[in-house]
Amino acid sequence: METLLTKPTTNLDDLFRRQQRKAQQLKRSTAAERVVRLEKFKQVLIDYTDSILQALFEDFKKPKAEAELEISPIIDEIDFAIASLATWMESQLVPTPDVMGGSAATSKIVYEPKGVCLLITPWNYPVLLTFRPLVSCIAAGNTAIVKPSELTPHTSTVIRQVVEAAFEPNEVVVVEGGVEVASELLKLPVHHIFYTGGSRVGKIVMKAAANYLASVTLELGGKSPAILDDSANLADAAGKIAWGKYFNCGQTCIAPDYVFVSEARKDEFLATLKATIETMYGADGPGIASPAYARMVNDSHYRRVKNLLDDAVEKGANVIVGGKTDASENYISPTLLADVTADHAIMKEEIFGPVLPVLTYKSIDEAIDFVNQGERPLALYVFGQDKTATDHVISNTTAGGSVVNHVIMHYFSPFLPFGGVGNSGTGRGHGHFGFLDFSNQRPVFQL
Ligand code: NAD
Repeated sequence: METLLTKPTTNLDDLFRRQQRKAQQLKRSTAAERVVRLEKFKQVLIDYTDSILQALFEDFKKPKAEAELEISPIIDEIDFAIASLATWMESQLVPTPDVMGGSAATSKIVYEPKGVCLLITPWNYPVLLTFRPLVSCIAAGNTAIVKPSELTPHTSTVIRQVVEAAFEPNEVVVVEGGVEVASELLKLPVHHIFYTGGSRVGKIVMKAAANYLASVTLELGGKSPAILDDSANLADAAGKIAWGKYFNCGQTCIAPDYVFVSEARKDEFLATLKATIETMYGADGPGIASPAYARMVNDSHYRRVKNLLDDAVEKGANVIVGGKTDASENYISPTLLADVTADHAIMKEEIFGPVLPVLTYKSIDEAIDFVNQGERPLALYVFGQDKTATDHVISNTTAGGSVVNHVIMHYFSPFLPFGGVGNSGTGRGHGHFGFLDFSNQRPVFQL
């Protein structure tokens, strides 16, 4: 098998040219041929499961149960694509207006691959957020150059090994490295860029794409609120919010970033959430030796979140649960903060760590106004038994996606498009939406 250097010394122009030639071949590939490659990818993933779990633990002590949840959605995505691909690839006949020839002409939409795609992916779910879009990319018949995050180096290595075992390098190749390598890759005249990460870098990617007018999918972040209507079942909401917030040590793009509850129900909610967190993690938190709780990915993210926490406390916020930190382990315990106000630094950037501020409103429209004054969130959650009230929140806000009476669930369905809006991203992934995102919908009109 042909070998490729995947370090910065790789001749990237040559790599691009070879993928471009391969892309031309893949353009004509059938659904059956693509299914064979997806099946092989699935088998390799299964074979590498233990190595993946181990690498994720070495990188930031991701607990086994959480690491397994990085793999199962990829398998589901592959199975869904395998079952649907023939239908997705079929060209779609549409009516022709009489003035253009009516039944004497044909109009159809042909789904062709975009060509050579570049995937730049993050560290928080490094396997899932690299391989789930890769499934759509391959299903749509493209080639891919993949750059995983340098912040999770053990996992980056396993990602490369999986790709080397599953694909020939002219079809999919992993180029490892940091910002320098990403910057070089962004100089290639690729046809589509799929970037997952923070909004600041998303802007750099979009500017680079403009050089070649490559299309982009940007899966970015932001502050995703959870708004509790007075009709919410507080115990139910507390359990789901705590799960979504503290999973992966709060480093989840669609984790609830903060909560809004009415002044009238604030004390009841804080008491319920406190009891929930203590039941989940113990009264003193999981502790620095716990194998069941992830760590902040590195020292710089640890310090960033600790500074946000310290700043809030200095300015009058109260720690209701947690607040325990240990720099030697990049450990921050699940933390619940009350009496946070909009002018605290913690309310001005995505927290991306296990600290949950709870804010209050007098009327739910105050919460809606607060959300609408900020950047458009990646996710917005609303809890309530009163459907008129939850509909009111959804229809008066904008977000990449929403869940009523739970958090995060929209990520898992292959029938729902996933992505952001405005500052939280552009483009849609998952299932058929992912296939379309990686396809050129080409109209063919024939007389
Ligand atoms: P990151 O550090 O994981 O970086 C992402 C990728 O961008 C990496 O491969 C990195 O090497 C590369 N990169 C960094 N700087 C670059 C530059 N100047 N030029 C080119 N490439 C560069 O990203 P992060 O920003 O720390 O990730 C966390 C953010 O990602 C959060 O905001 C989170 O909400 C968001 N996120 C979004 C999704 C989603 O699906 N929408 C998923 C996960 C994370």
